Amino acid sequence: MTDLYRLLPEEMEQLVIDMGYPRYRADQILLPLYYQFPKNFEDIPQLPKQLREDLIEAGYTIGSAKETHRIVSEDGDTTKLLLQLSETSVETVLMQYSSSKIGGHPRSTICVSTQIGCAMGCVFCATGQMGFETNLAAEDIVSQVIHFAEILQQRGEHVTNLVFMGMGEPMANYDEMIRAVKILTHDRGFGLGQRHITISTIGITSGIDKLAEENLQIGLAISLHAPNNELRKKLVPTAGPNSVEDIIDAGRRYFEKTGRRVTFEYALMAGVNDSPEIAKELASLLEGNGSHVNLIPINPTAGNFKRPTQESIIKFEQILSDAGVNCTVRVEKGTEISAACGQLRTDIVNSSK
Ligand code: SAH
Ligand code: SF4
Repeated sequence: MTDLYRLLPEEMEQLVIDMGYPRYRADQILLPLYYQFPKNFEDIPQLPKQLREDLIEAGYTIGSAKETHRIVSEDGDTTKLLLQLSETSVETVLMQYSSSKIGGHPRSTICVSTQIGCAMGCVFCATGQMGFETNLAAEDIVSQVIHFAEILQQRGEHVTNLVFMGMGEPMANYDEMIRAVKILTHDRGFGLGQRHITISTIGITSGIDKLAEENLQIGLAISLHAPNNELRKKLVPTAGPNSVEDIIDAGRRYFEKTGRRVTFEYALMAGVNDSPEIAKELASLLEGNGSHVNLIPINPTAGNFKRPTQESIIKFEQILSDAGVNCTVRVEKGTEISAACGQLRTDIVNSSK
């Protein structure tokens, strides 16, 4: 069985040609896939019956993921879906920002997962604490976006942004992740602008370098969390092969190659990595390299971590800004429905009861 959402447009063309049909038939599949969201071949009546039958016979399916649960936050801005895949299920989140409108529509950012669980074991992250379960296939990543695209389309809205910040480490599932990115950004695929996508990584430098070579205008976010290796290893136990210095260098190479400014994510934990001394160390590490720091006050989901006081968050930010390091504090969304950073786990069923 192969889900048609797995195929790049060029592969779709090759498929119909190999089946003895003219090239243009590929577009008669691609257009509905990405604009009408069919559930089966009967939903694409414009395709010749024989081609539909040939596809079914050859084991092709359409969108195998099924929505089984939906939770919406009280303010309506955050929606979490549970999608049933063949052997597992995955959560995906839509965050809307009613205050920032683009052409009259709210900014609608989908946060996708690339793995179930994660092998990196970050001590403050709920996904990391559940361990690694499985890699998601490209079509399972694409499906997460498609499901929300359909929901948004019914409201006359659309997906404006995509972040790879759900469960898992994108660089540890590189091939499937990048296939999904190519389908989602292809102008004959989903057609989302490359600049509207951000991939967040724990700092796997080989993956960062590979991404830089893709010739895509994708945004990169690197989860740094500490300005030195000693502290970082306590928070990211598998950081070993990628030192802070190596990560900063990989970020610089990414910027040089793509022209896209890199964001460093920094989860702030009270008494762990939020002191003024550490802020100064971080500032001198990043000073002058043109990158941006996104401070994320921790969501207490795993371990015994606490969010710093507002006062120490502001102080930390001030030290970075004073050193000329561009810095923002992330506004969390969806905490009450366990949809915020580090809260994604497959126990949605329990949490919704
Ligand atoms: N594996 C990738 C992408 C998924 S995590 C990565 O680590 O970058 C997305 C973001 O959520 C990362 O910046 C991560 O550090 C952050 N995060 C994880 N657990 C968190 C928590 N408990 N509170 C706040 N942010 C968290
Ligand atoms: Fe994995 Fe990212 Fe969580 Fe670390 S923070 S365990 S890399 S998902």
